[in-house]
Order: sequence, then structure tokens, then C-alpha cells
Amino acid sequence: MTTSEPQSETTPRQDFIRQAIRDDLAAGRHASIRTRFPPEPNGYLHIGHAKAIALNFGIANEFGGRCNLRLDDTNPAKEDPGYVAAIMEDVHWLGYEWASLRHASDYFEELYLAAEKLIRQGDAYVDDLTPEEIRAWRGSLTEPGRQSPYRNRNVEENLDLFRRMRAGEFADASRTLRAKIDMASDNMNLRDPALYRIKKVRHPHTGDTWPIYPMYDFAHSLSDAIEGITHSLCTLEFEDHRPLYDWCIDKVDLAGNPALLRPLLDSGIPLEAGRPRQIEFSRLNFNFLVLSKRKLLALVEDGLVDGWDDPRMPTLQGIRRRGYTPSALKLMVERLGIGKQNSLLDISILEGALRDDLDATAPRRMAVIDPLRMVLTNIDADHEGTLFLPNHPKDAAQGEREVPFSRELWIDREDFAEVPPPGFKRLTVGGDVRLRGAGIVRCDEVVKDAASNVIELLCTHDPEPCPGIEGSSRKVKGTIHWVSAKHGVPAEIRLYDRLFTVPDPDAGEDGKTYRDHLNLESCRSLRGYVEPAAAKATPEQSFQFERTGYFVADRFDHHPSAPVFNRSVALRDTWARRV
Ligand code: ATP
Ligand code: MG
Repeated sequence: MTTSEPQSETTPRQDFIRQAIRDDLAAGRHASIRTRFPPEPNGYLHIGHAKAIALNFGIANEFGGRCNLRLDDTNPAKEDPGYVAAIMEDVHWLGYEWASLRHASDYFEELYLAAEKLIRQGDAYVDDLTPEEIRAWRGSLTEPGRQSPYRNRNVEENLDLFRRMRAGEFADASRTLRAKIDMASDNMNLRDPALYRIKKVRHPHTGDTWPIYPMYDFAHSLSDAIEGITHSLCTLEFEDHRPLYDWCIDKVDLAGNPALLRPLLDSGIPLEAGRPRQIEFSRLNFNFLVLSKRKLLALVEDGLVDGWDDPRMPTLQGIRRRGYTPSALKLMVERLGIGKQNSLLDISILEGALRDDLDATAPRRMAVIDPLRMVLTNIDADHEGTLFLPNHPKDAAQGEREVPFSRELWIDREDFAEVPPPGFKRLTVGGDVRLRGAGIVRCDEVVKDAASNVIELLCTHDPEPCPGIEGSSRKVKGTIHWVSAKHGVPAEIRLYDRLFTVPDPDAGEDGKTYRDHLNLESCRSLRGYVEPAAAKATPEQSFQFERTGYFVADRFDHHPSAPVFNRSVALRDTWARRV
């Protein structure tokens, strides 16, 4: 199902989650493995989510199980159907297919029945305190909370009030259904957490049916149970929620009370109820990035980037447009492994995975980004030759491409120096350089404009007996890339770089925020020339532009007649020495 798996099928991955699953299987606790990826549709997925996706879908694939995509749509006020479409597209892009697409809202009726069951058991009560009062009465880590005066309402009164909450009789936030657990618990999550709140907001799926909505912990645990999820994998911040997760599952006991699931059966959703186990893993977090949906939204809304799919954004939509590949992201996840320690990782791990992935797969092309004209004075004006150059130096299976050659070429301005700095191996006046695959040139003369800028190089071409092959009698130190001026296709080349100039844009030093650390040079658009075989690219095709970097044909703006390429990553880490 996945496009590429860096480890071979025969080496089982050894992280603690997979080990726990093997143990559960060995102990006969489950017949098969079920996982889910449960995003809240209140923003676009980002690089961090790629880890959760690769983990949940990857484990289901490896163990012959199933993984659902579940939209955790319990907070309609923050949701937008546009996010849902993007989430589905992103999961597919990463190469995964869900066994079943679910919404937490599919289970609103079952969750409601489960809540009534808790009330009847004396495990939940309707509280008339305001949310502010509830918060104030919760106590702190050092002080126990205070019991609400409504805590000991009897079952009949609670049932009546809860049903009237559902009927829409009360104003928003005027009452709350709370679990009756322990106001003195060391774990704040167990101090009578809210299970339902009144919120008269239209829901994208259920419309105006519900004036009350379930809270995250209640909805999440029971949705897992309803779907028969065996291993509920989530990030470390939910570790403290696990006792509440287990409390909900145990108190409701769906498996022992199949009647609670009757509405689902009636709607044709298969019954799978089971007892899920929550296991937490560390969040992915990189320096030079912000990975919170709230901050990403602010970047977009303040116009600091060009939308959610700006190639500098860490959203999956953004990095996809930047030229990140699903296999590079999987390689990154694989290299980092799955652990229990949150840390700020170096962005070079992400960039390195992309470089390694593209180095192995991306065809080579030549592109000139800052063009300088070179005239080969010993070649006829109407000469047109065709060279056959390998698409990939280490992968003969990729074959060759035709590269046109003629009297006038473009080379990159930085490959020529009138006054060469020490150690300069490229072209100077009177010096030699090898043209990639096309022999050797000697620069005889330069042409300058009125302002003394070099605008043209007059050179003599020596084709060599075997073009491009070592062993020619001339000793030439450098090799440069070039594009035939007659055949080269003008292209827009977008040089993207890191969006922030400092490793931790969120550190908050001197009252600064990530907005104060934007890299103003993170997007530069240049006009250059690419060889015809590059111009022909389809959108999202990646190349290594020789000696320049890895580039991708822009997903939206590229057209073979007007090519647009985005720099995905430079050939080498040019930041390492700067930070
Ligand atoms: P944010 O805090 O950016 O809004 P979130 O955690 O609220 O993100 P959800 O949509 O709730 O985002 O996340 C869906 C799943 O992805 C959850 O299981 C969550 O644990 C996981 N996830 C979110 N961010 C990361 C991350 N940085 N690294 C690994 N997993 C993540
Ligand atoms: Mg969340």
C-alpha cells in the first residue's frame, strides 16, 4: 500500500509500540490489529501529522490490520469542510488508504446513550456552575478541587436535565454534564471532567440536530471502542488523559452493552466494539519551523505567507508544493524512530531525508539561474548538435535524454570570474573549464557593457575525442553546467529557503515572537533557462538541477511552455555553518 518502505520487509521495526502490539498478539488479546488516524478538521495537516499517519497506517499494513481515518468533528465552531477535503487528499498523497472513513459525529447518538447510561449508574451529573466557576473550583496541582453543589443530584433529576439539555431548553454553557470521579485526584483530568456542553452551533454533518456536543476525551475513547480500535496511538500530551480514557471505556462498557450501539446497526455501520489500549509517543517538532495549527493560521491570515500551500509552510500541502516526496517523509519518520521523549529536532534531519531520497531517484537536468551568454566562436552560427546525457549517474535504468548544443550557451554567472578568488576552479579569462557532457572551452575574451559589466564570454570549444569522458589529453579542473541559448526554455525559478532565521522562532526572548524572525529572503523569484527536457516536466516532477539543487515543477503554476520550478532543497546544507 505504501509507495516505498525504507526497511526491507524482512526486518521488523523494533520500537516499543510495535513490540507492545506483538506482545498483545502473542497473548491472544486480539485477532487482528486496528488503528485510526483521528485529526480534528480545524486546520491543515502538517509534518508532525505525517509521523502519526505513517505510524497508524504503517502499523496496520505491517500487521495485516486496518486503519480508519476518523475526523474528530466534535467542535463544530472551529471546523471547516475545506479542511476535510485537504486531510483526505494528504493521507492519499502519503500513499495510504483508510479501511473506513468515519466521523466522531457518526456516533453522536451512541455517545448520547452512553452518557445516559453513566447518569443511571451514578457516574455523571448535570452541573449548573458556569464554565468559569467549574475551572475556578477545580483546584490546582497542590490543592484539591471543590465539589459542585450540584454533584449529588439524584439520577432522575440528572436524566431529566440532560434530556432537556438535548432538547435545547437551556442557553449555551448554562449547564454541563460532568463525570463523577474524584475532585481530589492528583490527576486534574479526573476532577469531574466535562463530558457534554451546550453549544447551539450548526454542525457540518448533523446540522441543527444537536444543541449539545461531547467533549474530546469522552468522544475519543468511545469512538475508538465503537470502531474496535485495538491500539489507540496518540502523542505524549495525552498520557495524563489515559486514566480518563480508560474510565470512559470501562464505565460505559460498550462490549457488554451492545444495545447502546443499536442506532449504529440501524444505520448500517458494522459493529466492531472492543477494548482499545492507548499508547503515547513523542511529538515531532523541528527547529526553524512552527507546527501549531493556530500559528500556521496566523501566518496565513496576516499575509506573511502565500496561503496554506505556500512552499515555505510546514503543512503537507506546503511541503508537497515545495517538492517533498512521500518517500522522503517516510524515510524521515523511519530514521527518527518512535520514542517517548519530546525534543526539538534539527531541521537538517528533514532536509537530509529529502536530499537522500531525491539523490537516489530524481533525474538530472541542467538549468541556468543567473544567465551569462557564452559564444563558442569556432562553431558555425547555424550548428545544432544533440548530445545524449544520462538521466541519472548512478541509475542506468533511467536511460538518457537528448540535450541540444549550439554556438551560444547560457552559463551561470557565478561560474565565471574575471578576477578569480584563490582556489577558483571554474572559468576565467584565458582559462579552461569542462562543459558537462560537451567538451572543454577556453575563454579568450570578455565583452562588457558601458558600465563595465561582463555581458558575454567569447570562447573556443574543444569537443574532445570522447565528449565528457575523462582521459582527454587536456587537464581541466572544473566542470560547469550550461543550456543551449537557442533551445533553452525561459523559466521562473523560485528559490525557497527556511521561513525563519533562528532555530527557535518561538523562544520568546526579548518579547519577540516568531513574527520577528521571518527570513525575508525565504522566497526569491528569478528568471533563468532550463534545458528542453526539464521544461517538458509534468507538475510535481522532481529533478536535480546539476550543481544547483533539487527542484520540482510547481504543482499549480508550471506549464511546459512557461516552466516554473521551486527549489525543494539545496544540494548541501548551507545553514550548518551559520547557526
Ligand atoms: P495542533 O496542536 O497543531 O493543533 P493537534 O494535535 O491538535 O495539532 P490533531 O488534528 O488533533 O492535531 O491531531 C491528529 C493526530 O495527529 C493526533 O493523534 C495527534 O496526536 C497527532 N499529531 C499532531 N501533531 C503531531 C506531531 N507534531 N507529531 C506527531 N503526531 C502529531
Ligand atoms: Mg487536537
